[in-house]
Amino acid sequence: MSEQSNSLSAFNNIRIVLVNTSHPGNIGATARAMKNMGLSKLTLVDPEQFPSPVATGRAVAAVDILERAEVVPTLEDAVRDCGLVIGASARVRRIPWPLLTPMETAVKVADESRLNEVALVFGREDSGLTNEELQLCHFHVHIAADEQYSSLNLAAAVMVISYEVRMELLRRAAQAVPARVADEQAIVDGVDWDVPKATGQQLENFYSHLEQVMVDLNFHDPENPRLLMMRMRRLFGRIRPDQMEISILRGLLSHVDMLKERADRGISVEQQRQEKRAAKKDTDDSV
Ligand code: SAH
Repeated sequence: MSEQSNSLSAFNNIRIVLVNTSHPGNIGATARAMKNMGLSKLTLVDPEQFPSPVATGRAVAAVDILERAEVVPTLEDAVRDCGLVIGASARVRRIPWPLLTPMETAVKVADESRLNEVALVFGREDSGLTNEELQLCHFHVHIAADEQYSSLNLAAAVMVISYEVRMELLRRAAQAVPARVADEQAIVDGVDWDVPKATGQQLENFYSHLEQVMVDLNFHDPENPRLLMMRMRRLFGRIRPDQMEISILRGLLSHVDMLKERADRGISVEQQRQEKRAAKKDTDDSV
């Protein structure tokens, strides 16, 4: 693949996600903005009216994007397979979370969209994204609009971010910048990375397992969560484990499960160690 097509193929791994949009006109205008900027994958989370002739009218020549749009019930479903999720927020620091400018967003998206599916997430016209939805994002992006009135129209916000992403991808295509990246690699914080990032689904499974183990060990009282899981999500969201790392962590948690289960049956850790040594000796002897 040439560097140019290599760079531009990144567009195929980028999806725009609109959450619970109330005005179908905004869905159509978003499709148009996307098509102008060379993006084609639109995911609609529980839209109020879709399909709609109003959306179709506003999309003009971008109706194909509406026709191929995926409709899902929750944001979790929309980002299940994504390794990078960035949520656009009209308000800064609604919850303290790593925050990017649109330009920084474009650099991250360009760095990572070759190896990972990427979601750019936009909220409801009246109330934006909920705290739970914002916590499903690795980063938040804020467009530094005028403080007097910083909330953009939904499709205008999609346009600003998509434009920056396009400019970054075109710049790289023109300069063949991704020469520093092999086909199957992404750049993460300036380092070539060979393993894809954990997807939304893998992270959710990990968080549920982590929470269950913390509860089983009486470390975490779900009745009195004190933001523990939010902090855990923020910690791992900041680290952004890859798929290998997440599987090691899941293995560790399963091991804790097993030790706890056996301890509950009165088998001490020392006994377990001895059993393990004996089992290993058996295997060693048999080879
Ligand atoms: N009244 C809402 C704003 C909703 S605007 C609120 O206060 O949260 C609809 C969506 O457009 C937002 O959820 C966000 O995804 C995007 N958006 C609007 N203005 C933005 C800005 N200045 N920066 C980043 N995203 C913005």
